[in-house]
Amino acid sequence: MAQAEILVTGAGGFIGGHLVAALRRSRPGAIRAVDLKPPESWYQRFADVDNRQLDLRLRPHCTEAAEGVEAIYQLAADMGGMGYIENHKAACMLNVLINTHMLVAAQERGARRFFYASSACVYNADKQRGGEVTPLREDDAYPAMPEDGYGWEKLFSERMCRHFSEDFGLQIRIARLHNVYGPFGTWDGGREKAPAAICRKVAAAVASGDHHIEIWGDGRQRRSFMYIDDCTEGIQRIMASDVDVPLNLGSSETVTIDGLVDVVQEIAGIRLRRSYRLDAPTGVNGRSSDNTMILERLGWHPSIPLGDGINKTYAWIYDQYLAREKRLPHQV
Ligand code: NAD
Repeated sequence: MAQAEILVTGAGGFIGGHLVAALRRSRPGAIRAVDLKPPESWYQRFADVDNRQLDLRLRPHCTEAAEGVEAIYQLAADMGGMGYIENHKAACMLNVLINTHMLVAAQERGARRFFYASSACVYNADKQRGGEVTPLREDDAYPAMPEDGYGWEKLFSERMCRHFSEDFGLQIRIARLHNVYGPFGTWDGGREKAPAAICRKVAAAVASGDHHIEIWGDGRQRRSFMYIDDCTEGIQRIMASDVDVPLNLGSSETVTIDGLVDVVQEIAGIRLRRSYRLDAPTGVNGRSSDNTMILERLGWHPSIPLGDGINKTYAWIYDQYLAREKRLPHQV
């Protein structure tokens, strides 16, 4: 295998796995993939990639990861959906260890460009409280009032990236990712996000024949969801661009959680009875991505329709569910 020139961290996870899959198509043999988890448990793993199990909270592991690479995609993080980040704030803030040590390692080992996966959770919560959804613009992150824990750490790390650029000349690229979904990601266990959780619940309803679903919140929370192929395309475009300020990377197509259930149940070919858990963690009332800036700067924005992406995601999660339960599909 040739010397790796590109490092993807968090490569055993959802977005990292898809990003490695996309990058190796154009740069076979040039990718190093790193994750805390053993490679056997990664969602996607490739023989022509330098796969390593490292704990990037530890500085020497970051130095090893960054050795000899020119470009770093920093996606490693302890994170999950709303149910996880609202109940694990300290763990989310400890991601600062990964970001700090990766930036220092990048600078010391002579990497030229550093991509940081930030989040829509950096946006000021006061701007997302009303019933109406105002698409979030990049300058809505300040004055700072991000999601407690996870969002504060992301905002801090964005600023740390900026100062590494100003003080050490590291070329920084930052995407603020808005809800990404797709196959080969977390779909169970407490870290999954709304689209995966709903696909799993619908798959369970189909498999059991009990056509009932429990929805977190009142179902009227409005969100936008970006399909993974738009996400990996956007990350590569942002990395190749000259834009050194944070850019939204998300869909501007919004849907309520009830509307998302409608889409999934139609794909599954069933009609569900719904109950609502009003005490469950749901996050802000409404959130979507204002894509004016990415369109202006890159001439591109995420555009894969929700129905198309959910079709592929549901099919994958349905198969995973059946394989785990070792059940035969129930006739619908
Ligand atoms: P994921 O949980 O599937 O992947 C993250 C990976 O990081 C995991 O495989 C995990 O094992 C790894 N990791 C955690 N701690 C590590 C450590 N100490 N050392 C090495 N690896 C470690 O999450 P994802 O959805 O693929 O998210 C990737 C990045 O994008 C994260 O930084 C996340 O905060 C950001 N993001 C994701 C979304 C989304 O909707 N999925 C939205 C906003 C931001």
